Amino acid sequence: MKKVIRLVREVLKWIRKGCIVSPRAIYRLSICFACKYYLVDKKKCIKCGCYMPLKTKLDTAKCPINKW
Ligand code: SF4
Repeated sequence: MKKVIRLVREVLKWIRKGCIVSPRAIYRLSICFACKYYLVDKKKCIKCGCYMPLKTKLDTAKCPINKW
């Protein structure tokens, strides 16, 4: 439950900032695209189960295997 609350807070923070796609988010997503744990069709990471087009935009988000 704490994980969901933290995710909602982060998403709201991103929305309040204007839903800007930062160069850092693009960089992170490019790493995911080349990662063996990334499911291209679902746009999800099978390590953390997250939807990566959103997760990569969140300030405090981290790759579960420290690639970014
Ligand atoms: S978050 Fe990390 S483990 Fe998951 S797809 Fe991206 S680079 Fe790979």
